[in-house]
Amino acid sequence: MCYAIPAKLVAIDGQTGTIDYFGEKRQILLDLDDVAVGDYVYAQGGVLVRKIPPKEAEEILEHWQTIFFELKKTDAALSKIDQNKLSSNALAVLQKVNLRKSLTPDEMLSLFNLQDEQELKVLYEIANNVRQREHGNSSCIHGVIEFSNYCSNNCHYCGIRKDQELPRYRMSIEEIISAAKEAVDEYGFKALVLQSGEDFWYDDAKLITMVREIRKMGVLVFVSLGLRSKGTYQKLYDAGARAVLLRFETSNKDIFAKLRPGTNLADRVQLIKALKAMGYVLATGFIVGFPGETNNDLIQNILLAKYLAPDMYSFGPLIPASNTPLFGSPKVSKDLILKTIAVMRFIDSNSNILVTTALETLDRNAKQEALLAGANSMMINITPKHYKELYKIYDDKADVTKEIKQSIQETVKMLYELGRAPTDIAAHAVKTRPSGQARG
Ligand code: SF4
Repeated sequence: MCYAIPAKLVAIDGQTGTIDYFGEKRQILLDLDDVAVGDYVYAQGGVLVRKIPPKEAEEILEHWQTIFFELKKTDAALSKIDQNKLSSNALAVLQKVNLRKSLTPDEMLSLFNLQDEQELKVLYEIANNVRQREHGNSSCIHGVIEFSNYCSNNCHYCGIRKDQELPRYRMSIEEIISAAKEAVDEYGFKALVLQSGEDFWYDDAKLITMVREIRKMGVLVFVSLGLRSKGTYQKLYDAGARAVLLRFETSNKDIFAKLRPGTNLADRVQLIKALKAMGYVLATGFIVGFPGETNNDLIQNILLAKYLAPDMYSFGPLIPASNTPLFGSPKVSKDLILKTIAVMRFIDSNSNILVTTALETLDRNAKQEALLAGANSMMINITPKHYKELYKIYDDKADVTKEIKQSIQETVKMLYELGRAPTDIAAHAVKTRPSGQARG
């Protein structure tokens, strides 16, 4: 996982480059032709996204040379565990994870069945410790632009399903490009997620223009468009999209068929595999808390997610929107999501795990707690405010009324408090760092 600060390219081997952040090395895909050893670059999701003039890079790095290490100290302190205090069960889990041995389904089930507050605390602490060991304090921060709330599907829990009555919007390609430009130029984002319902008004030509123009801005272009043909996804890859988010939602065929009418689990899984094979940086995962779902289903979900070998996992709590068939279903507990994140961290210790915005809607503190339970990746909603309010996939969406600047500042502040994610997103947010905040 990359930091969102400049790195120096120190070696090139074919399409693979080695970059250096203050002595810390990472491997990346060289997705630009015109680069040479010694160049300063930005990389995101393991992909080189932009070259930076040396003077500009050196000025930014001068700002980071102390803070970079301070953040690491904070993160290391917060992720320390005292093995002497672990129960024999907790120690056994840790030892297996440390030896990179997979947990058995029964062992996973025993973790999902934990209820005792102290035992849960230990579970999350171990997951956080494994995250820190694998990734250090790096974390992705993606900006997400929700560009259309039209959808041709009727999922039983979704607030923008076809039959839902609500004001609909479609951003024009020019508006999307302009929102992306603002995110890059004004706020410093290096990775943008372009997300919509399954809206076929955006044909290949429109999507290609959108991706091509945004890739030119020197960012990782992440698409989240739902089921589209492999041909479309291939064209978008060729236009410069390098990452894709497509969750399979549940591995339980019956639940899938009942709650996502007209769509098919097998097709979705096939597409996810094809996207990986095309070379996309793949994010996938599932929803937690469907009615009738058991802990065994969650374990099967985790196993399917691992089998798909993504670069990033995404788990959202079920929050059925008003006026949808599932509205009024029992609320998912925050601990069930945190357990899912922690167990996923044990099952695929080197993975990237996203904190979804839905999690924040479930509970104000959940974002921070998820980052301390094994998660290491974030999204900030940067959809223009008048559209953001209409992308109501679930009720009471966190962040809809906030200005983008405020969301960025709050996120960066929280990440600094946790010693995470050196990022020059929003230089203004960096400059307003309260003194001493990153000390550990
Ligand atoms: S969950 Fe996705 S595919 Fe289903 S209705 Fe909502 S936006 Fe459409």
